[in-house]
Amino acid sequence: MLFTDLGLSEPILRAIAEEGYTSPTPIQAKSIPAVLKGGDLLAAAQTGTGKTAGFTLPILQRLSTTKPSSGKRLLRVLILTPTRELAAQVQESVVTYGKYTGLKSTVIFGGVGANPQIKAIAGGLDILVATPGRLLDLMSQKCVSLNDIEILVLDEADRMLDMGFLRDIKKILAALPKQRQNLLFSATFSTEIKALADGLLNSPALIEV
Ligand code: AMP
Repeated sequence: MLFTDLGLSEPILRAIAEEGYTSPTPIQAKSIPAVLKGGDLLAAAQTGTGKTAGFTLPILQRLSTTKPSSGKRLLRVLILTPTRELAAQVQESVVTYGKYTGLKSTVIFGGVGANPQIKAIAGGLDILVATPGRLLDLMSQKCVSLNDIEILVLDEADRMLDMGFLRDIKKILAALPKQRQNLLFSATFSTEIKALADGLLNSPALIEV
């Protein structure tokens, strides 16, 4: 299979080609069509499988083909990750794969000053990559609104629970619009992850690689 068989638009295909990718990895071949359909997704995937492009590419595609009717930039995608390193990597992928789409993103995490992050959000964004603690912090300071979120990604959800983020995740979920697409990626499936998935996902497509 080739990337050109997956229904991705030219600006995204051009960015992928520049990365030197020709064929989707197994998880990408399954996750890209599933996410493009608009339904929820539960994916069992380790790092190194290409899972980041597996959700980033179809998200970029959905955002660039369905623009808000107001023509205004709205924060429509939230990607939560357990660590700042992973958040930074995911954001880098969003920038790389989205460089010809005109979409804007930023990354926020703790341990560094919040002011540049607050400024980046205030400048207008389509996609926010965040660790849970800093996101809650900026939400409580009214520096970020999640009212327009259409797609939520929980990346490495098992690690987020291992790190004690369940309560934070629940607070964030409570601030999101009810009508949205949810994508959950996890390397392992404990009872806790299954409970989180049961509460979060509606008839998800299941992907294992
Ligand atoms: P990930 O599992 O998302 O952390 O990705 C692992 C690595 O695989 C990253 O360095 C990507 O740049 C690379 N990669 C992702 N998708 C592809 C692909 N379809 N072809 C070649 N390399 C890829």
